[in-house]
Amino acid sequence: MRPECITLVAPQGQIAMKQQTKVESFVHVLLSWARNNTRDFPWRKIGDPYKIVIAEIMLQRTKAEQVAPVYERFVEKYPNPEALSKASVAELRGEILSLGLEKRAQGLKKLAEQLVEQHGSKIPSNRRELMKLHWVGNYIANAILCHAFGLDTPTVDANFARLLVRVFSLRPKLPAQKDKNIWAFAQNLMPLVKGRARELNLAILDLSTKICTRQKPSCGTCPLNSICDYTSDHEGERPPERPRIRHS
Ligand code: SF4
Repeated sequence: MRPECITLVAPQGQIAMKQQTKVESFVHVLLSWARNNTRDFPWRKIGDPYKIVIAEIMLQRTKAEQVAPVYERFVEKYPNPEALSKASVAELRGEILSLGLEKRAQGLKKLAEQLVEQHGSKIPSNRRELMKLHWVGNYIANAILCHAFGLDTPTVDANFARLLVRVFSLRPKLPAQKDKNIWAFAQNLMPLVKGRARELNLAILDLSTKICTRQKPSCGTCPLNSICDYTSDHEGERPPERPRIRHS
């Protein structure tokens, strides 16, 4: 092998170390950015797991700004699972009509009844029980564990996944937010946050919503610009909606 060829290949250890440094920078930058830039929503001020699950169900496929006034009225009228379980589906449908996804009304009632009947009107605090709840999947379970019970768990939705894919050139199966490798990557960030997963999750959510948007990321003003693989060369261009390379 010619000597010049050898210099082109970085040892595996160096690559791993470089990646680890980048992951640490990613977490550090986002936690700093979170101090002054995360958004203020009513469900972010409380640690009540019932209210968090209500907010998360309303936020599915719906903009936070649209959810805020509906959420505030809703939790005032139905402040706990008991009150919610007594409402009719028609009544609930009327309350959340402006959010669309009508089947949410039935889902909310079923969830409330399950909580009353099986959990004494309380939201369970362990993943296994959470995952048995109606309408609760991986994302909502992690959101409850993180935002209500203070655990260091990632909340990977489409926005979160997009940010990881761009910054670290990941190649997920689609949809990326359901790819177990993306979840594993996000989980590996958790030991670095040391009890600040909530801040990191909110920072990722807000940065990906405000700056690293799906169609036109503002790389020029992004705090992750210097470590992001999706370089500022792409600013102003429409990024590919779907990564082209998949796992085999
Ligand atoms: S530099 Fe651009 S692509 Fe990278 S995270 Fe920031 S906005 Fe997204």
